[in-house]
Amino acid sequence: MAVTEVAQSRRVVTEIPGPKSRELQERRVAAVAKGVGSVLPVYVTRAGGGIVEDVDGNALIDFGSGIAVTNVGNADPRVVERSAEQLGRFTHTCFMVNPYEAYVEVCEALNRITPGDHEKRSILLNSGAEAVENAVKIARSATGRQAVVVFDHAYHGRTNLTMGLTAKNMPYKQGFGPFAGEIHRMPMAYAYRWPTGPENCGPEAAAMVTDQITKQIGAENVAAVVIEPIQGEGGFIEPAPGFLPAIVEFCRANGIVFVADEVQTGFARTGDMFACEHEGVVPDLITTAKGIAGGLPLAAVTGRAELMDAVHGGGLGGTYGGNPTACAAALASLEAIESDDLVGRAREIGDLMLGRLRKLAEEHAIIGDVRGRGAMIAIELVKDDKTPDPESLGRILSYCHSRGLVLLSAGTYGNVIRMLPPLVIGDDLLNEGLDILAEAFDRL
Ligand SMILES: *Cc1c(COP(=O)(O)O)cnc(C)c1O
Repeated sequence: MAVTEVAQSRRVVTEIPGPKSRELQERRVAAVAKGVGSVLPVYVTRAGGGIVEDVDGNALIDFGSGIAVTNVGNADPRVVERSAEQLGRFTHTCFMVNPYEAYVEVCEALNRITPGDHEKRSILLNSGAEAVENAVKIARSATGRQAVVVFDHAYHGRTNLTMGLTAKNMPYKQGFGPFAGEIHRMPMAYAYRWPTGPENCGPEAAAMVTDQITKQIGAENVAAVVIEPIQGEGGFIEPAPGFLPAIVEFCRANGIVFVADEVQTGFARTGDMFACEHEGVVPDLITTAKGIAGGLPLAAVTGRAELMDAVHGGGLGGTYGGNPTACAAALASLEAIESDDLVGRAREIGDLMLGRLRKLAEEHAIIGDVRGRGAMIAIELVKDDKTPDPESLGRILSYCHSRGLVLLSAGTYGNVIRMLPPLVIGDDLLNEGLDILAEAFDRL
């Protein structure tokens, strides 16, 4: 069960997916709704550290962390022990019926570790989408305004409101409308694709956004600006330098709630505890989920006490929000992040990956951009003149999968390879994964 029990080496003993996985896949097709996809239909029996083991006896290198969730690794013994201890005492009372200490402790921890030393409050929920929905509810209630500003390439979830906040139509929105009103989309400071060059991107994009908000919506009507401090599903787009601070300044000057959606970037992933810290940005509200509880479902909104407490009693909540087992897992996971200095480890991972990928980019013209921070690194594949190249991405991914490397894609144009290894992965596995990726480019 513990991390050390899963041998930290790659082992490919069958085709991938192997015969047992393919059998399970047949059962799945007959039983599971088709709309739920799987990047790599290899059925898992055990996972730990940087390795995922499957039903056919293969051991795959994990460059996905279940989409930036298992930052502390899979089945970290501290997370397992503390959750199991809680499970043995009680499974659920509903915090809105009979509260318990672990929920309060998680909120205290979030209030302490999120950016800014102002007084804060938190609420616990089940998923990232639910956290974003609640942040919008809180901002609207606190400001008495309705408009919400979001950005090109944004991803905020799959519920009705968060689909509306999300930019990309296929597969997230197609056929699922109508979407909620009062959602306004603005240009993103995407340095690699900025028409006048990356050095002008931050200030020019910020000027466009503030101008469009003023002219098209009216700043006095805007409840919240919601933004990912590094866009995740959109392709690991880091806002160009200066963009986020300029947007925050505009929000402060106009009474707009600045919401940082750190569902993917949070909890040491980017080499800071939260990605906002990179430019000293202090959000009014911050949404978290994915990396919060070592794999158990938990999410939160944390923010300024006066905003969070503006909502009437009983206005926020949910049956399962802040489930006691998930809270216990979060407390153990946060302790592991702090005591093992996973922030520092994420920076080391970033240095190693960026170093090797930048060299790879010199050898392969198809790699147009290498970007990201910490253990959240991406490469964007292009043809001449930056035309997106999703076809080559498909071939690279299948090769890596066949060699036992779990690798994900992203991006509005489906041409970004994203790497999100667990922060406890060893350098040897990291290098081996990058070797496989390099082979894939050589064979293209
Ligand atoms: C994954 C994600 C969400 C949605 O989280 P779920 O737990 O899947 O609902 C929201 N925002 C961002 C930035 C995400 O990466």
